[in-house]
Amino acid sequence: MADSSVRRFQTPRGTRDLLPVDYTVHARILDHAREQARLAGFGFIEPPTFEYADLFARGVGEGTDIVEKEMYIFDDRGGDRLALRPEGTASVCRAYLQHGMANLSQPVKLAYHLPIFRYERPQAGRFRQHTQFGVEAIGVRDPALDAEVIDLGWRLAESLGLRDLKILLNSIGDIEDRRSYVPRLKAHFEPHLEQIAPDDRGRWDRAPMRLLDSKDERTRPFQEGAPIITDHLRPESAAYYDAVKVHLEALGIPFEERPTLVRGLDYYTHTVFEIVPAEADGSQVTVLAGGRYDGLIEQIGGPPTPGIGFGMGIERMAQQLREQDLVTDDASAVDVLIAALGEGADVAASRIAGELRRNGIAATLAFGGRSLKAQLRQANRSGARFALIAGARDLSEGQITVRNLESSEQWSVGLDDVVGALTDVTYTQPQD
Ligand code: ATP
Ligand code: MG
Repeated sequence: MADSSVRRFQTPRGTRDLLPVDYTVHARILDHAREQARLAGFGFIEPPTFEYADLFARGVGEGTDIVEKEMYIFDDRGGDRLALRPEGTASVCRAYLQHGMANLSQPVKLAYHLPIFRYERPQAGRFRQHTQFGVEAIGVRDPALDAEVIDLGWRLAESLGLRDLKILLNSIGDIEDRRSYVPRLKAHFEPHLEQIAPDDRGRWDRAPMRLLDSKDERTRPFQEGAPIITDHLRPESAAYYDAVKVHLEALGIPFEERPTLVRGLDYYTHTVFEIVPAEADGSQVTVLAGGRYDGLIEQIGGPPTPGIGFGMGIERMAQQLREQDLVTDDASAVDVLIAALGEGADVAASRIAGELRRNGIAATLAFGGRSLKAQLRQANRSGARFALIAGARDLSEGQITVRNLESSEQWSVGLDDVVGALTDVTYTQPQD
């Protein structure tokens, strides 16, 4: 009897187990991400899972949601204040500095695939641990590079077969551009301060552009009619933005300008973008988001160094694939399930299974010494396309039965021909 006082543990709130059915989807997304990264000349980097908490406070910015409310911070036994990584960009920029990558040919192009930790209010598409594929291109300020990074994100979605997505694009200028804009933005929200969300009220003075990014229902109504930054860009900033658009057009990438798009992190300047479902109006559905961060490296103690990148939520991408019926893979289905019947048949079955696997055919036994009927029922449920029926009497005559589980057709092959017979029928084109 189970001791009822023993606690049955569950995953911590906001986290989940990635089960085999989910894992295949994630792996597929990652395969495509690796390929797109390769096509655009990005190498992979993996920083540690925790960093000094100050890196994020400095890099991402005090007063951002991430730093203010979402970081998992702890003191280690040596008294260092550490944080589980709440985003990838600051770590990658830290690595760029730490390893003197400014001496390499620029831009340095780095991609990553990392778990990200944020203490958020869990809801659909919003977890406390999620996974991002992201890229950073550091050391060059060139509109063609902005377009190339956006292109990578777009091709990734496209290569996975996703439809009905769109790119939202904006320029949020830099500090200079915002000098004339920010007072107007503040003036717009000022009469409504009593009605907007308390958190946003606090931001009105410190980081008013963040009010445009607020997802709070109390703030959202007042976003309408706010002045837009693109009306206040200096000629050189406007020209940069125009050039990004020209390059995107040259790449054949569709985009929609969204003058209210700002991003929730302090470090963004100029180009910002998101990829969202075409129908989206809510906020739990951005699959990919990024922008230029020309001030970040200086913020974390380096020389002025431009950069641009994006982060893509793999869970949200997987969700899109599911919603668009693009998930077909059966995670752990083998090609062949082997049923064994009679004295010594299981040993022969093991030998045959091993031989099949060595020849690239996924095969396993039904196990458990059950009746033939039960073993075949298992084969049918397993998703395998073929069953092998290893009966002791057939085996003694050097024969085994192959059963096509889709058509129920079955035939006999010689034991020496099993691999050949199954290679012919199980061979499938490699997956996309
Ligand atoms: P949001 O506006 O949805 O909070 P964000 O601006 O905080 O997103 P980024 O920091 O730019 O997001 O992260 C890049 C991507 O990572 C997002 O576009 C999204 O796909 C994914 N992402 C961010 N937070 C989460 C989360 N809590 N759970 C799952 N995916 C997330
Ligand atoms: Mg967020």
